[in-house]
Amino acid sequence: MDCIFCKIAAREIDSELLYEDEAVVAFRDINPVAPTHVLIVPREHIERISDIQPRHAEMVGRLHLVAGEIAARTGLSDYRLVFNCGPEAGQAVYHIHLHLIGGRKMTWPPG
Ligand code: AMP
Repeated sequence: MDCIFCKIAAREIDSELLYEDEAVVAFRDINPVAPTHVLIVPREHIERISDIQPRHAEMVGRLHLVAGEIAARTGLSDYRLVFNCGPEAGQAVYHIHLHLIGGRKMTWPPG
């Protein structure tokens, strides 16, 4: 499958990997929007967060637990977790990923 995040998860493409287990990988975003910007990604190829099914509940929970572990490990107490879903929300890569963004003051609402 021609998916960049599948290839990163399979280590066919280099990334700055911070975490991996049998279901999830996490790596630094190549174009960070904050001092800490990490993507937490399931190994399973799912295009949009709106495509998840009840069987994905544990995996989606695990994405958030991994985000919390990485935040704690990097000394971040305040941060933002984001799924972009679809073009209007700014989704560019169609393999779901949880953005962990922190290390600077954020504004609300997001642009
Ligand atoms: P989204 O706009 O929510 O789909 O986010 C996609 C993110 O993937 C962007 O923040 C990109 O900078 C990031 N990205 C794209 N290609 C790579 C890559 N090869 N390694 C790490 N991050 C990437």
